[in-house]
Amino acid sequence: MKYSIIGNPVEHSKSPDIYNYLFEYFGIDSEYSRNCVTDKINLGKEIQSFNGVNITFPYKKDAFKLCDKYETKTKNIGSVNTIVNKGGVLKGINTDGIGFVHSIKEFKNIDFVLIIGAGATAKAASIALREAGYIVAVANRSSLPLLEFEDCMIYPFDSYNDIFEPDLVVNMTSVGLEDDELPFPKKIESIIDKASVCIDLVYGKETAFMRLAESKGKKIRNGEALLVSQAIFSFQYFTNFKYSVVEIEEALKNKEF
Ligand code: NDP
Repeated sequence: MKYSIIGNPVEHSKSPDIYNYLFEYFGIDSEYSRNCVTDKINLGKEIQSFNGVNITFPYKKDAFKLCDKYETKTKNIGSVNTIVNKGGVLKGINTDGIGFVHSIKEFKNIDFVLIIGAGATAKAASIALREAGYIVAVANRSSLPLLEFEDCMIYPFDSYNDIFEPDLVVNMTSVGLEDDELPFPKKIESIIDKASVCIDLVYGKETAFMRLAESKGKKIRNGEALLVSQAIFSFQYFTNFKYSVVEIEEALKNKEF
């Protein structure tokens, strides 16, 4: 069977390392590759050439529209990070939200979460965080995408105030992925000051956001925890739930990618 990560950029992606390791660990005859799609016109054709794919930045919403059916909760989210292809019929799944909640379970004293960014991953995470009982606020550069966030406090950058005091701040913008900028430069320092934990979804490099949070003595994490968590749930879909989360976690224990 053939699987792939599809997005642009994907050179930095560690998904092939994780899935190929899991295929080998469980004795599954499959391979997982990287596939950079530079023009979204080719997205459907690329997806169809695999038994299953993970979709990353910037195609999660476009890929959603190409699916024939959806896992129940995914329909609300409007984006997919995982697609299972059964004989040409594409089933869309989003494991970013459940993966994000799973990835922060080590932090016991978090009630208030501020998400910076209102893209595909932010939407999936906000829904899962609300379902898990967290109080969520979302701040974004443009106002329009914020209207899709139900049950959360929403702040366009221009009208952000410091009333919301987050325990956890997460950079879910694409800032930092290919540059060394800060998301929300005007306010980020005062936002970080109030938090105890800061997470950047970017991984494989130290971003300006991570450096700033570290300099203020905050607990910091990069996107590796989410990368691994969402892969655990996506691997279950790729293997038709043959393995439990606990079994997959056991396989990944002490493994570095
Ligand atoms: P989307 O394209 O859906 O959303 C991008 C977001 O970034 C939007 O809110 C956009 O704001 C904001 N943004 C872009 N440029 C700027 C800027 N210069 N200043 C402020 N805000 C900006 O992206 P995704 O949700 O798919 O991905 C977001 C990030 O999360 C990416 O870096 C991705 O690699 C990472 N990610 C990591 C994962 C992991 O496993 N570690 C999993 C999923 C995502 P606006 O609406 O104003 O355009």
